[in-house]
Amino acid sequence: MLLLRNARVMTCDPARPGLGILEHGAVGIAANGTIAYVGDDRTAPAADQTLDLDGRLLTPGLVDCHTHAIFAGDRAREFALRAAGATYLEIAAAGGGISATLEPTRAATEAELGALLGARLDAALATGTTTIEVKSGYDLTLAGELRLLRVVAATASARRPHVVPTFLAHLVPRDRAADRDAFVAEIATQLIPAVASARLASSVDIYCDEGAFTLAEARLILGAARASGLGVRGHVGQFVDLGAAELLGELTALSADHLEQVSAAGIAALAAAGTVAVMLPGACVQLRLPVPPIARLRAAGVRLAVASDLNPGSSFSSSLPLQMWLATTHFAMTVEEAWLGVTRHAAAALGRAATAGILAPGRPADLVAWQCREPGDVPYRYGANLVERVVRGGLDMTAL
Ligand SMILES: [Zn+2]
Repeated sequence: MLLLRNARVMTCDPARPGLGILEHGAVGIAANGTIAYVGDDRTAPAADQTLDLDGRLLTPGLVDCHTHAIFAGDRAREFALRAAGATYLEIAAAGGGISATLEPTRAATEAELGALLGARLDAALATGTTTIEVKSGYDLTLAGELRLLRVVAATASARRPHVVPTFLAHLVPRDRAADRDAFVAEIATQLIPAVASARLASSVDIYCDEGAFTLAEARLILGAARASGLGVRGHVGQFVDLGAAELLGELTALSADHLEQVSAAGIAALAAAGTVAVMLPGACVQLRLPVPPIARLRAAGVRLAVASDLNPGSSFSSSLPLQMWLATTHFAMTVEEAWLGVTRHAAAALGRAATAGILAPGRPADLVAWQCREPGDVPYRYGANLVERVVRGGLDMTAL
């Protein structure tokens, strides 16, 4: 056993109050890559190897529960136009928007897509992410979406964060606008069953908002997901509240993401279903959207996660510490909420509550040692990478 000792251990264990911090803590890692001990340093069992952390913070590996990390091309020009005050319509007229990502993604080879995704996964690991969700959604043809998910599976490795793949029903492409109903039916009757039978994703996500899928289409597509035994998630209320939070609650969805616009009934439905609200502050700030109703979500008892939304259009960053800074400053979330948002609650949003986001015996040894003692240091000292050491499945990734 390897014992990480003399640490300030943040367990995020719900059996302990708050962030579950052990002031003089230690974590033991068994040879099989699981956690063998979490507890007081002074009563820790004997170990073959020890590492003294000198009182620094030791936390669960971070969980990024919302990314669009597989794509080719970038939209730096669109970013510059937006910074200069261009409107959404002006950006679209200049060739921006999702179509600017569809073309290079469709044209890229599987090797090229794998290399791009791999580099993004490596960058996420370097800022403490040990579990990361990756959505398809930048091809929008049946064969192409399956190809993206196959590349995601092929790019995952023991030297990278654990990857949780999601099939995203992103948009109706322009060339299918005339037979929109047939496109929706193909997703529900062909694509989702194919994804499920090949085990290419564990959940189906849908973008239900103005300009994307309607509430009726979301009901059809998410119903197919449920029938195929897949988890259900949604991009909802980023621009307009179409009533999708109520639908997600009705379907006992894992998560409802964005939520800049959500009604009291929508919040009540999420609370009743135990659905996690995923906050995406980077995209919110970049698109200059109003802040989601954090106080009302909190008052209703809805669990909050925080994710990067890594994507080329509105949030080209894989750093969760940076999102924690935005969550605590711009969204007025507490430091405790931000930490639970990138650990325990993010794991719940992925259906991985039993394996990620909490330090407890028997779980995979996914941990981060930080160059600080206070949980608040990580968002407070934004822009600095305070990660000292990342352990994934018991392997010290920093030493590889
Ligand atoms: Zn998204």
